[in-house]
Amino acid sequence: MTHTTVRHGLRLVTVIVSVLACTFIFAAAAIQFGIHTLNQWQTYSSIHGMQPPGSHDSVLVFAPHSDDETLGCGGLLSLAKSNKAKVKVVLLTNGDGFRFAAARTYKTVRVTHQRMIDLAYRRQGETLYALQQFGLVRSDVEFLGYPDKGLAKMWEVNWSPDLPYTSSATGWNFVGYDDAPSRYAPYCGESLLRDIEKQLTACKPTIVFIPHPLDNHSDHYSTYCFVTSAIEQLASEGHDFAKHVKLYTYLVHRGDWPSSNKGADASMLMPPHSLIQGDTSWISLTLPDDVIRAKRAAIMCYKTQTDVEKAFLLGFARPNEIFGIVQSGMAATVPQGFMSTNVDLLKWRGIVPVVSDPVGDYVMAEMSRGGDVRSIYACTDRRLMFLRTDFAGKLSKRITYTIAVKNPDAPETSKPYEIRITKLAVSDPDGLMWSYKANSLQVTIPLSRLGAGDHLYIQITTKLSGITVDNTGWRTIQLMPSAADVKAPVR
Ligand SMILES: [Zn+2]
Repeated sequence: MTHTTVRHGLRLVTVIVSVLACTFIFAAAAIQFGIHTLNQWQTYSSIHGMQPPGSHDSVLVFAPHSDDETLGCGGLLSLAKSNKAKVKVVLLTNGDGFRFAAARTYKTVRVTHQRMIDLAYRRQGETLYALQQFGLVRSDVEFLGYPDKGLAKMWEVNWSPDLPYTSSATGWNFVGYDDAPSRYAPYCGESLLRDIEKQLTACKPTIVFIPHPLDNHSDHYSTYCFVTSAIEQLASEGHDFAKHVKLYTYLVHRGDWPSSNKGADASMLMPPHSLIQGDTSWISLTLPDDVIRAKRAAIMCYKTQTDVEKAFLLGFARPNEIFGIVQSGMAATVPQGFMSTNVDLLKWRGIVPVVSDPVGDYVMAEMSRGGDVRSIYACTDRRLMFLRTDFAGKLSKRITYTIAVKNPDAPETSKPYEIRITKLAVSDPDGLMWSYKANSLQVTIPLSRLGAGDHLYIQITTKLSGITVDNTGWRTIQLMPSAADVKAPVR
């Protein structure tokens, strides 16, 4: 082969690679534009209205970081306070992991542990000042002092005190803040769950506000897990308020939502298009002009944050706030021997999904439909749990499928039970039962592996070459307390 032939060959390969890359980028941009347009279009739909809390209500807002309570629920807090409702805001972290904000605030590239701790106290001050705009006082606010960007690890890995999480930002593996109610508590799931339970029992709320489980930020969806788990736990211990409490979710991070015109947006805030179609019912709270002004002023109190992402924050200063009621699915019960460990769609007839997941809401999901979760079904026969996941397209060998199930009530199984399937070949060491057919993947898990309890959390994650295609977040599944009288589902 001559040099000229090799050169021509190389040139041809370069041209083909460039054309493919351009086509990919163009397709991705077109899909992203479509998603963005759909989100914009939703601005013109309507959702049901909501009454603000009244004097008989006790409102408890859980926020992962200083500013989330204002972005998601600032107007609601203001109206609740003026209606003489009891109000409390609990911050799980002090936002001590936002290095860029620390660098910007202290004008240094050398962000030490002490700088991050200084930033945390500063953010606490901003929170108190912001919440003053809504009429809250110091005693209405609690800072638990857990690690920013560490809550998901505490939920998934660092559950017990003998395996605490260490924050790379502060160097702490325990609550080090002198104003925290549980100073020196280890950074672990058990400590945080106990602290949240204490806040709940002290407040006995009638309404609780938490981040939506499909919020993109791991601290946000983990806050959903910890608080729902604490409420379930207290309800099972017989606390009346926990059985009757109304649970609302608020959204802060979801793709490019809420896209706004540099904060000068007077249009109604609406949920992202993809989340309107899932298993969340959305309601809207209208804010009077003076409350919108107070919310805007409160957002501006967060100088460490507005210095970095002012337009995003002001995108929440709208004429309304939206809240989602997330339906928790109930796993069906079937007689022993009824369900096959192979995917048999006929056997699943009559069983409704426990989770409906948005489809095509991200570029990667739209381009790899075999990894885009559409719905999850669950049933048990007292011995085994059957989980079927349906995808938008046919399953693909190029995609890694991870199914994780967690039972927070069972300390012995505090680490999620995880099944990872790569190249459509399972990587579980002990003979797991699983199968797939077209768009459906089914795994079968012995209930003894999950421990006792009547609610579980499940998360499906799919990846293509290490890049996330879809992540359902942790979703709750209720189990029947007793599956003694089980019948086959209606055919
Ligand atoms: Zn946050």
